[in-house]
Amino acid sequence: MLIYIKGLEDERFVRPLQLIANLFFEETEITMDESQDSELVIDFQLMEAEKQVSATAVLTAKSSGEQYKASYGKAVTAAGGKEYFKQVKTIVSHVYLNVLQDYTRMIQKWGILTGIRPTKLLHKQNQAGVPGEEARRKLQEEYLITEEKIDLMQRILDRQLTMVPDLYEVKDEVSIYIGIPFCPTKCAYCTFPAFAIQGKQGRVTSFLSGLHYEMEQIGRWLKEKSVKITTVYYGGGTPTAISSEEMDELYELMYEVFPDVNKIREITVEAGRPDTITPEKLSVLKKWNIDRISINPQSYTQETLKAIGRHHTVEETIEKYRMARASGMNNINMDLIIGLPGEGTAEFGHSLAETEKLMPESLTVHTLSFKRASEMTLNKEKYKVADRTEVEQMMNMAEEWTKDHDYVPYYLYRQKNILGNLENVGYSKPGQESIYNIMIMEEVQTIIGIGCGAASKFIDRETGKIEHFANPKDPKTYNERFSEYTQKKIDRLNQLFP
Ligand code: SF4
Repeated sequence: MLIYIKGLEDERFVRPLQLIANLFFEETEITMDESQDSELVIDFQLMEAEKQVSATAVLTAKSSGEQYKASYGKAVTAAGGKEYFKQVKTIVSHVYLNVLQDYTRMIQKWGILTGIRPTKLLHKQNQAGVPGEEARRKLQEEYLITEEKIDLMQRILDRQLTMVPDLYEVKDEVSIYIGIPFCPTKCAYCTFPAFAIQGKQGRVTSFLSGLHYEMEQIGRWLKEKSVKITTVYYGGGTPTAISSEEMDELYELMYEVFPDVNKIREITVEAGRPDTITPEKLSVLKKWNIDRISINPQSYTQETLKAIGRHHTVEETIEKYRMARASGMNNINMDLIIGLPGEGTAEFGHSLAETEKLMPESLTVHTLSFKRASEMTLNKEKYKVADRTEVEQMMNMAEEWTKDHDYVPYYLYRQKNILGNLENVGYSKPGQESIYNIMIMEEVQTIIGIGCGAASKFIDRETGKIEHFANPKDPKTYNERFSEYTQKKIDRLNQLFP
């Protein structure tokens, strides 16, 4: 779909308009060049008077001659610069979305929002002291978000502030993410650093010595600066893919080098692949007081697991879950994915029915996204997935099921290329929400990434400005360069915490 945008000169509009168009059509292109053979023409008129901007958009479908028109205007608070453009962009997006909705007869429940973290918008208002009703009105009127999604955002915000009452002050602390890049086999939809562990013991050993070094250095820095740790999260890969002895050493080191480990609010270890869980590993997790683990079924249909390259059985997921329970783990998360190849409401309904037999403390419901580098995207024709309506039905099923079983939504994020423009939602039993997930989603504090592929997110405590820094994704490069990467992080941390 090629859309010709008329009447807007500023090239900065192209990207946001393209992102919005992608909500309606696959592979959209935006052009400001009239000579190109576009299917739709959208003609804008922008009126900028003092402190008031109005926009009108007229959409013309070239083939049918159909036309749709929308207008909107509002006061702008900024006098110029980036903030002014941002406010004008919201007004332009508003009329643009309206004409596209009229033309396609599709309603975008998230309105003009195309970003990953919609709840941040509500937090921003809340932090600025905007009263609840006014914030809601703003989301509805300016951003065209539906009531249903605003309710969801509000419920999430309330849960987050109950779980972390000092959410707006935790910027003086940090969280730690530790990336272990090994898995038993690679899943088809995966783009995480996940290297098959079989026969690679030498590589695992040298990776772990790099990781130990990073933990020691970062731990020393935290102690020197008296910076507290809010949460620690072991992800990957599959952190339980390494041996129980290696896990034991790693957690022992964590207690030795990190400050006040007993006061850390939450330590999570992803045990995502059930085929990595053993009684020995569970007793190591217990020994070191790991608070929360994740065992991820993704689906309870065996053919699906096979199709996506997860070499474990449905029974194994259930068996390992029960084993973890029996070993005393009392905060277990399980992930399900909506829209896996070959799956529709029947298979998803089955997954929910199976979940009911286990009742984990939290359930994260992802919607399948075609990530650029995954096997699934590269061979798209091999994988048949449900259409938008069915994906939406499955999402509603998850919402109803969690409500009926007393789970509450506590974080959400959207992804690009997500089926049906929906979202991923983390549900949990009240009081069992993962604090780390809240930290990462709301971007309220610095997260130091340690290990392979670990992404650090540095947040300026004054301005809130975010800076990303990623460790190398493959163990070989990591093993060669970990000390240099550690130093770069410490240099940056010194600027943020002088
Ligand atoms: S278990 Fe997770 S990290 Fe490992 S290959 Fe599968 S999706 Fe990727």
